[in-house]
Amino acid sequence: MQAQALKQEPTLNEILAVDSEELAERMLEPATMQAIYEDTADIISRSRTPDSLYALVQNAIKTMGEVWGNLADESEPAACRKGCSMCCHQSVMVTAPEVLHTVKLLRDNLSEAEIDQLQARVAARASEIEGRSSNERMDSRIACAFLVDDICSIYPARPLQCRGGYSEDVEYCRSLFEDRETTQAAVADGSMDGRYLLVPKMLYDSAQIGMAGALKAEGLTADPLEFTAAMAIALADPNITEKWLRGWPVFDGARLVRHTTAAEGEQYITEAAGTA
Ligand code: SF4
Repeated sequence: MQAQALKQEPTLNEILAVDSEELAERMLEPATMQAIYEDTADIISRSRTPDSLYALVQNAIKTMGEVWGNLADESEPAACRKGCSMCCHQSVMVTAPEVLHTVKLLRDNLSEAEIDQLQARVAARASEIEGRSSNERMDSRIACAFLVDDICSIYPARPLQCRGGYSEDVEYCRSLFEDRETTQAAVADGSMDGRYLLVPKMLYDSAQIGMAGALKAEGLTADPLEFTAAMAIALADPNITEKWLRGWPVFDGARLVRHTTAAEGEQYITEAAGTA
C-alpha cells in the first residue's frame, strides 16, 4: 500500500520536466500566498491600528502590481477597455481591510455631504443584491454600486479581485453576459474555453487568500464579503474601522455565504442588505 502511494507522487525530475511557463504558473499561487501572508502578519502583529490595516492592503496592491507588471508583457494581451463593464455585474468577493481601505480613500477625498449621498446610493444597490448569487446579479444586470456610466468610479481604490480580472476575448464576456447559462454549460463540457487571463487572476486571488489567512491567524475576522454590501455598511459608520479592529461583527450583513440551490447548485449568496 505504502509503495503504491509513494509511486503516485511525481519525482523532482518529473516536476522540473514540465514546460517552464507551466512551472512558473504552478509556483505563482503558493509563492504569492506565502509572501502576502508573511507581510500581512508582520504588519498587523507590530501594530493593530487603522493605519496598519491600510498599509497591509497597500502592500498587497503594490506587490501584486509589480509582479503582474513584470509578467504582463509575456501574457496574452487583455481585451479589457475603459467603458466595457460586463464583468462589473457580478458579486465581488472582498476582505474587510480592502473595504476599510477603499472607505478611507473616499473619506479623504469627498466632503461629508458627498459621502452621505454616496452612502444612500450604495445602500440602495446593496438592498437589490441581498439574497442573490453572482449569476443572478449578472442575469438581472445588477451592477456594482461604483460603476458609473460604465466606468469604475473608484478605479485607483478598487478591490484585489477587480485588479486581477482580465478578459482575453470580449466575445467570451459578451456571450456570458447575454446568455450566461449556455456559456457556462459550454465551458463546463469543454466545448468552449473560459477566455480570461489566468496569471493575474491567480496572483490577486492568492494575495487575497494570503492576507485573509494572516488576519485569521491574528484573531481577526476574514469572512468573504460582498463589496457593494460591505461598502454600504462601512460608509454609514465613521467608526467602522476601530469597531472591526475590536472584533465587533460589523460586516455580518455583507457576508457571502455558500448555499446549494436547486437551480444553480453551490453558489455564494450575499446574505443580507448592507445596513448595520
Ligand atoms: S469596484 Fe470598480 S472594477 Fe470592481 S466591480 Fe465595482 S465598478 Fe467594477
